[in-house]
Amino acid sequence: MNWLTNFVRPKLRALVARKEAPENLWLKCPKCEQMLFMRDWEANQEVCTHCGHHMRIRPMKRLPHLFDEGKYELHPLPKVTIDPLKFRDTERYDARLKKALAKAEGTTDALVVASGLMGSRMTVVAALDFGFMGGSMGTAVGEGLVMAAELAVARKAPLIVFSASGGARMQEGILSLMQLTRTTIAVRKVKEAGLPYIVVLTDPTTGGVSASFAMLGDIHLAEPDAIIGFAGPRVIQDTIRQELPEGFQRSEYLLEHGMVDAVVHRHKLRETLIRMITLLMDPRVVESVAAG
Ligand SMILES: [Zn+2]
Repeated sequence: MNWLTNFVRPKLRALVARKEAPENLWLKCPKCEQMLFMRDWEANQEVCTHCGHHMRIRPMKRLPHLFDEGKYELHPLPKVTIDPLKFRDTERYDARLKKALAKAEGTTDALVVASGLMGSRMTVVAALDFGFMGGSMGTAVGEGLVMAAELAVARKAPLIVFSASGGARMQEGILSLMQLTRTTIAVRKVKEAGLPYIVVLTDPTTGGVSASFAMLGDIHLAEPDAIIGFAGPRVIQDTIRQELPEGFQRSEYLLEHGMVDAVVHRHKLRETLIRMITLLMDPRVVESVAAG
């Protein structure tokens, strides 16, 4: 017995452990199935180095690539009532939240709000986090977006939203649906103040988020090959009883059909956004355009 527990078991463990180690260093691209070295992939802003597939990047990884010198200020989300309906499906909602929080990076719900200089101009960014309960919009995300819009107005700054969401947070029932109107009013305040509101649609942007603030931008950019839509393709196909065209609900398809203004590679987002903010905010550019 001793020989088995003291000798064989550690040997077996070592064998298994050795197998596990490389998995943390490498990952497989879901599109081209090539193995990617984790460090290269992270340095490449989580874009596949072989085929250019844009993977879902979490806000805290994205923000440093946006702001001047990677410097920004984080704004904590306003406090909200947790689990207002005491909801439970296969699991209690507060238990789900706790799990998501344990893996959350720099946020308390599915939204991160930050401000800082972009092209030397104060800018407010609100980025949804698909890694936090599928980027679903409940009261906290709604409150966060209202805060971001008010911050933009107070600082006379443009508001940029990065959308990534499965939709409304079902566990908050009607309260999550109310966020559709609240966020719509919030972004209207930014527009009424004469400030640009730009949306960058990322994979995936669906449901209640695409039915509210994500589709109300002055300009809509999209990352390549992102799924953007309201209902899923299967639901639509079953309803209209027709085959859906190829590339349906993808960025490039939406660009072709006028729902998106430009499909922009993740590496080009910062310079594109700065160019657009400058065009929309710099009085000299506005005057020269007006002059003819
Ligand atoms: Zn790939």
